[in-house]
Amino acid sequence: MEEAEQEKLRALNHQGEYIIRQASEKRVVLITPEYRSRALYPWEGGLIGDHSRISKDFFRCKGSILNPYLVVNDKAGQKNHFHDCGGRDKHSLPLRNGKEFVYPVLIDLLNYIQGKTGKKVIITSGHRCPQHNSYVDQSIVNQSSKHMVGAAVDFYVQGLEQRPEIVIDLIRQYYKENPFYQGKKEFEQFLTMQKSDTSPTITPLIYNREVSIRLYKKNEGRNFDNRHNYPYLTLMVRYDRDEKKGVVYTWHDAERNILRY
Ligand SMILES: [Zn+2]
Repeated sequence: MEEAEQEKLRALNHQGEYIIRQASEKRVVLITPEYRSRALYPWEGGLIGDHSRISKDFFRCKGSILNPYLVVNDKAGQKNHFHDCGGRDKHSLPLRNGKEFVYPVLIDLLNYIQGKTGKKVIITSGHRCPQHNSYVDQSIVNQSSKHMVGAAVDFYVQGLEQRPEIVIDLIRQYYKENPFYQGKKEFEQFLTMQKSDTSPTITPLIYNREVSIRLYKKNEGRNFDNRHNYPYLTLMVRYDRDEKKGVVYTWHDAERNILRY
């Protein structure tokens, strides 16, 4: 039989049938939905005030392939090209024991600042992979930046942009309040590095055993990650409490200790 004829036959035999039921007859009882607020994902870890709790996720490399390459002349007049990395899509944070790792004291301190001020901490530069690090700042000093090993963070506090001294005081306060450090002078006490050790124009570094704090004023310390106009703070880890040793940049930790996708 031709297909068209088959189709005609099918249409002839086709009969609609009503489904009849009583008005009161219900097969599925519908329950009025009840509003429930969304449960947090494990990595969100709750809010502090109105702001998300900072986690290591906030430290991911801010590189992007969309950024233009830079051409920088070196001292010999040679042109060097710097390409940015692909950012979080292309590589992980530094690893420790097979897991992504940022020094927990940085995360704790930033959450403490958010909790005390009720204002949002804006991380402008957390982890920088070696490629992004040299894209951000081509200076010699920056070549061994602890940003590459998850031991440094640049940030400011929204609403306290012009009052970084308040934030510095809070960091000092953290070391006085936290029971872990109480009575331990080397943590409770901050020292000021002598001017001769730092560039004379830049505010001297203050430090305790574990961290150092540097304030960059409005026109200082500008690099690709810090293109904003605010003063900002750099927090750096000096001492690893768990491993009981100093924290330094190593080529291996920076280059070989990240997963590339
Ligand atoms: Zn990167």
